[in-house]
Amino acid sequence: MNFETCEADVNLILSKHFTEGRGGHQVDKIVVHYNAGNLTCEGCFSVWQNREASAHYQVESNGRVGQLVWDRDTAWHCGVFSQNQRSIGIEHANLSDGTITETCLDTGAHLVAALCKMYGLGRPEWLVNVYPHKHFSPTSCPGQIYGSQKDAYIQRAQHWYDVMTGAIQPEPEEPATPLPDALKGFQDLDPNAWYVSAIEECVLQGYMSGYDSAHFGPTDHITRGQAVCAISNAARADLTEILEPFKDVAPSPYYYTAVCWAVQEGIVSEQENFRPDDAATRAEMCVMLCNWQHGESVGQPTGYPDWPEVPEWAQEAVAWAVEQGVISGSGGKLNPNQPCTRAEAAAMLANLL
Ligand SMILES: [Zn+2]
Repeated sequence: MNFETCEADVNLILSKHFTEGRGGHQVDKIVVHYNAGNLTCEGCFSVWQNREASAHYQVESNGRVGQLVWDRDTAWHCGVFSQNQRSIGIEHANLSDGTITETCLDTGAHLVAALCKMYGLGRPEWLVNVYPHKHFSPTSCPGQIYGSQKDAYIQRAQHWYDVMTGAIQPEPEEPATPLPDALKGFQDLDPNAWYVSAIEECVLQGYMSGYDSAHFGPTDHITRGQAVCAISNAARADLTEILEPFKDVAPSPYYYTAVCWAVQEGIVSEQENFRPDDAATRAEMCVMLCNWQHGESVGQPTGYPDWPEVPEWAQEAVAWAVEQGVISGSGGKLNPNQPCTRAEAAAMLANLL
């Protein structure tokens, strides 16, 4: 719902059971209703196909708002046609005891405020510019909105009206946690995310950098080419010596010298094509780090139910990575065959070093 423009979440405009135009009348009031049921916008639309009734808006229990008759037209909602011509009708989904949910109350009241502002009706006030349906017809409608929730409803509408007209300032939001200085330019990092200190460390130490000054891609999968570059950076490797390349690594990409170094160091195997653009799995990342560090494991880690998923060729490296605190496993899972994200790779490097 856009309360500034009064555009609803969904428009389900009826083709019958309303009157086009308002007979030249201006809107001078809001009339509040309840469904006598817990309906959706679609549910109201369906009911009003057969019942000779309608309202401009429906507010669902979850706060979703639908428009079923345009404001410029006359909805058939309060039982008195001359009042219908001068009013906007808002329906609310209600619970079995006639009350409405907190979300429905807040949204309905916000809508009342928005309409009072839009049509210049002034601050919402019962029986001044906001009316219960029962004021015009013998009915229980709008249930507890004009009973136990009568004061709460209008007070919330007044609050929203005051916010919308600038009479009061909205509650100040929590001051945002800033990113550390080293990460300031990155627009795709969440300052509150778990990975911030690890990525900060990797950027400060020059292990990893962003794609550009604004994008780090923390949730992107790290490619094998990127992974080898990060490790060569972390190793402060001398990349001036170039050996025989893999046959799918042309001697021009950014990772070429790093891959050559990694082969020489035994970090990646010469046995197969390097697949530089494939995502590195978490197990592959462990193997590269373990090979680099000449790590040896003392045994199989316990407490990881998905250990059997670790490929045999990666078992020693993954065990070593757990022992060294390089990986801890999220939620008790190692996820060895999942692609490693760039944030996870940063965390592994930061943990290791
Ligand atoms: Zn009603």
